[in-house]
Amino acid sequence: MEDLAQFRTEVRSFYATLPDLLSGLDGPLERGRAYLAARYDAGFGALDYPIETGGRDLDKEFINTFRKEAPSREFANAVFGFGIGIDMVLPTLRDYGSAELQQRFLRPGLRGEEIWCQLYSEPGAGSDLAGLTTSAKLDGDQWVVSGQKVWTSGASDADFGILLARTNPDVPKHQGISMMILPMKQPGVEVRPLHQMTGVSSFNEVFITEAKIPAPWVVGAPGEGWRMAVALLSYERSSTGAGGGRRPITVERLISLAQESEARQDPTVRQDLATLFTNRKIVEWLNRRRDIHPSLTKLWRTKEGRAAAAVATRLAHMQVIAWEGEPLGHDKKTLVYGICDAPALSLGGGTDEVQRNILGERVLGLPREPSSDRNLPFKDTLKN
Ligand SMILES: Cc1cc2nc3c(=O)[nH]c(=O)nc-3n(C[C@H](O)[C@H](O)[C@H](O)COP(=O)(O)OP(=O)(O)OC[C@H]3O[C@@H](n4cnc5c(N)ncnc54)[C@H](O)[C@@H]3O)c2cc1C
Repeated sequence: MEDLAQFRTEVRSFYATLPDLLSGLDGPLERGRAYLAARYDAGFGALDYPIETGGRDLDKEFINTFRKEAPSREFANAVFGFGIGIDMVLPTLRDYGSAELQQRFLRPGLRGEEIWCQLYSEPGAGSDLAGLTTSAKLDGDQWVVSGQKVWTSGASDADFGILLARTNPDVPKHQGISMMILPMKQPGVEVRPLHQMTGVSSFNEVFITEAKIPAPWVVGAPGEGWRMAVALLSYERSSTGAGGGRRPITVERLISLAQESEARQDPTVRQDLATLFTNRKIVEWLNRRRDIHPSLTKLWRTKEGRAAAAVATRLAHMQVIAWEGEPLGHDKKTLVYGICDAPALSLGGGTDEVQRNILGERVLGLPREPSSDRNLPFKDTLKN
């Protein structure tokens, strides 16, 4: 194991190079690419990857140190636009991908050369993800895929999508799914942006019509997709719990907003701010624990984000309705953006109710939720 103090010194010297590296780069994707390439080349891009896949085999303490030393939130967690690849898909490929897939995808993904999206949800399959109907059929040396996905974050920029597709409708629903890698830039893939109340279009519908995937680009074995899907979701929840993905309004920002107004005298506002601060500390400390269940940290993060949006709305009062000087949709740092975006926290990566079901069943050992179609061949089940 490497020495933590020595590691911290190395990390500080790396972060000190960033202002020069990023000067003149304005677009978030452009900045992200430059940062990730430099991070990988300096030996910080694959801290918890095995040495044989180009990593350093370090544990959570080192990762937390790397995050903690970051000069700003832009670098502390997943970088804007690259989170699905770096936080979710690449760790799944590291753990379950074939040597061929690891060789092809890990390095370019970690260096920010390729952008990923997550092709899970469908119009009839969200919480009931195992009810998905997008199909993939093997034809010679390639899979032919048809179906529709929805809520696909970042699909318009993505080079590859991690796809769940049904490869066998004759077995029960969880058993006939495979995880594969779909090249997004091909004629059979059409991406249509969805407009959100924040004013931006961060997610999309994806229509897939006889799109092609090379036969070996399956993660795990064909039919093992559900196990792969759960593994990836657990990375997604850990990342959300650790502050990746969406950025809730910070308590520091709310404290300064309160200080600028009469609200600072209001005992209930002071109480709300104290609760928010306490919750933030709880999340931080939970994340330091090694074996914490990712659904628990995700739920806390969601709770914190929604409460922060409620306090922001209260502090801003009438301005929320006619917020001067903050046009919707252009600046994600604005309060109005944070308020409108807060409900998304409870949905992406699985809803709060689904996280509670998971905790009930897998952590507390409560009986499994009843399901009438769990053991029926998928082709004989009622579809959503
Ligand atoms: C910001 C954001 C980004 C997203 N990005 C992606 C992405 O990149 N890729 C992707 O594939 N998907 C993505 N999603 C989709 C997300 O995973 C789904 O919205 C989520 O899984 C819920 O599915 P649904 O919207 O179909 O709601 P439904 O499953 O229809 O749920 C509706 C309501 O019923 C409740 N419910 C459902 N089943 C149960 C149950 N068994 N017990 C208790 N309550 C239940 C839910 O909690 C919810 O309140 C994203 C969503 C959001 C909001």
